[in-house]
Amino acid sequence: MSDTFFTILFFIFVFAASIIRGVYSKQFKQNREFTDKLDKFLTILPVFGMFIFPVIYALTSWLDFADYQLPGWAGWFGAAIFSLSLWVLWRSHADLGRQWSVKVEIQEEHKLVTDGIFKYIRHPMYAAHILWGIAQPLLLWNWIAGLSMLVTLLPLFFYRVPKEEKMMVDKFGGEYRHYMDRTGRVFPKLGRA
Ligand code: SAH
Repeated sequence: MSDTFFTILFFIFVFAASIIRGVYSKQFKQNREFTDKLDKFLTILPVFGMFIFPVIYALTSWLDFADYQLPGWAGWFGAAIFSLSLWVLWRSHADLGRQWSVKVEIQEEHKLVTDGIFKYIRHPMYAAHILWGIAQPLLLWNWIAGLSMLVTLLPLFFYRVPKEEKMMVDKFGGEYRHYMDRTGRVFPKLGRA
């Protein structure tokens, strides 16, 4: 299988991810006004990594100097990781329901979700995007387009997660602390269910 094949596969996965996101964001419409400007900037940044750099890579020769080759099995491995990412994204949207938001906030009648995929990890939606970021260099054989998702995503992750968890502790207190003890951030805690 060629690099073109895996590039097309990549865009099919991106399309599938935007359908999942689109269905749920239509269902749970919300006020998108950000109060935290840095958070807003860091939320927009991954659009470059997940879409703009890949499109430049696919449609122009500007990034050709940074191309590399991988064996076909690596592309299939990337496809498997991206499939897992889509499943995790879907489950986290389904389980989080109306508590979902593009920003860090407590909504009216916000309920703490600790079931479904949230039973194992506290940030499945961010985990899904990290899996995407790992799959991308296996599908797009270019240092810039391949790594652009992880590079543009991780700042948001490191900025947001502590803030979000502090907000959840402020709101739900011991209940969230206890939930933190049983779960991992993005990897399930070993030996626990
Ligand atoms: N960090 C989670 C959720 C991302 S959506 C994940 O990666 O899956 C962001 C919103 O989810 C935040 O505004 C927060 O209010 C809400 N949230 C995060 N964890 C939650 C939980 N366990 N229960 C309910 N809402 C949660």
